[in-house]
Amino acid sequence: MTDSVSKEQRSINMSHIRGENTGLEIAVRECLFSQGFRYRKNDKKLPGKPDVVLKKYGAVIFINGCFWHHHAHCKLAYIPKTNTDFWINKFERNMKNDIKHSRELRKRGYHVITIWECRLKKDFDKEMKRVIKLLDSYINEERQ
Ligand SMILES: [Zn+2]
Repeated sequence: MTDSVSKEQRSINMSHIRGENTGLEIAVRECLFSQGFRYRKNDKKLPGKPDVVLKKYGAVIFINGCFWHHHAHCKLAYIPKTNTDFWINKFERNMKNDIKHSRELRKRGYHVITIWECRLKKDFDKEMKRVIKLLDSYINEERQ
């Protein structure tokens, strides 16, 4: 199969997609911070390096790009027409890792919250309200 996108071009595309996702991560963190939540970023000691770790809430948050994490039934989770096998492999690996990391984190007693890119783009406030409600429920749980 010929590949119309050069390696160099592809890495530019990737960094672009990753860059977009980073913008969302920053927006999520800023929102949480403004609501009084305090957290650590990308804790390397935890499985999957969660994007946000809220120790007080016993919770971690993954902010998932729909393309990279191949969000089910999501139109952002398309498979590129070139190098199809490469991409399918990559997405399968990413999805397997996501499942594995969540399982390991839950085993360690963490609540795992996944925020999808498409939900943030569709209605940022609504998605953040959902997350904050979850976090509040975790802390109430601890107090009982
Ligand atoms: Zn999605």
